[in-house]
Amino acid sequence: MAPLADSLDLGRLRLGAGEGRRLDLEVRLDPFEYGGQRYAVEPARVPVRLDISRTTGNGNALRIRFEASLDGPCMRCLGEARPTIAVDAREVDQPGGGEELSSPYVVEQELDLRAWARDALALAQPAQVLCSEDCLGLCPVCGEDLNLAGPDHGHESEPDPRWAKLKELKLD
Ligand SMILES: [Zn+2]
Ligand SMILES: [Zn+2]
Repeated sequence: MAPLADSLDLGRLRLGAGEGRRLDLEVRLDPFEYGGQRYAVEPARVPVRLDISRTTGNGNALRIRFEASLDGPCMRCLGEARPTIAVDAREVDQPGGGEELSSPYVVEQELDLRAWARDALALAQPAQVLCSEDCLGLCPVCGEDLNLAGPDHGHESEPDPRWAKLKELKLD
């Protein structure tokens, strides 16, 4: 099992400029609040691949890759949804390189892996969490799950009260 790492001291890797290191780690990600619903991140320990390239002047170019699932209700039918999300994110931190080359996740060579992984997952998640891409959702009239109800599900349209009024009129 890969070591659990919430954060990582990049300085301790003792990489020289131009050197790189690949680390397979595990990170714990907190549940998401999304669209008023709660989504647990699966698995509990997400295997993460971290690539570190040391640049000059104690700078680091970082790449993180992992897959995780969000476990919670489908936003259309409220059934169980468990989309798997692939994350591939990069960060550059170059001390003295100005704001653009400063990563918010690296402070004094300490990489906040957990915060980075969580934000990267949040950015990669779909606009809607669905049980399947073609989820039919709930019937707007009776609330039945249309994935289960079948294609014949429907309702007699209510007669428009204005037509009833017209019928009462005597046209002769
Ligand atoms: Zn659904
Ligand atoms: Zn219905």
